[in-house]
Amino acid sequence: MRQRRIQFIRRALVRKMEELRLSADNTISRMKDDEGNCADPFDQAATDSIKFVELACRDRERELMIDVKETIMRIDRGLFGVCDHCGRMIHDERLSIEPMSRLCTECQDEKEISHKRKNRRLTMKGMTHQHG
Ligand SMILES: [Zn+2]
Repeated sequence: MRQRRIQFIRRALVRKMEELRLSADNTISRMKDDEGNCADPFDQAATDSIKFVELACRDRERELMIDVKETIMRIDRGLFGVCDHCGRMIHDERLSIEPMSRLCTECQDEKEISHKRKNRRLTMKGMTHQHG
């Protein structure tokens, strides 16, 4: 991938991280505001579930933030576009769609297949367990 294109992606990632940070700050300050006025026990349940959703979103956002940050670091180290698993170059096309991919298509497929296999094994194990 050309350097100019990489720098373009880097700028987009920096912007994205800024966005995520701002939204995380907003969530935290909103949650702090909520702390003070929890009088009604019926409202409390609703507030709790809203908080739960917000926390779940925040977790996802935090994971995304880490991904974005790591991708920027990879660009700075000249590792951007190199597969973590086999060391081959990841196709430009794939990087344009998913700049945060760390695996080439082949390794990604392999990972997904083995993940599915593992899940199936776990399910089967659970089923035999039920039978005694
Ligand atoms: Zn690979």
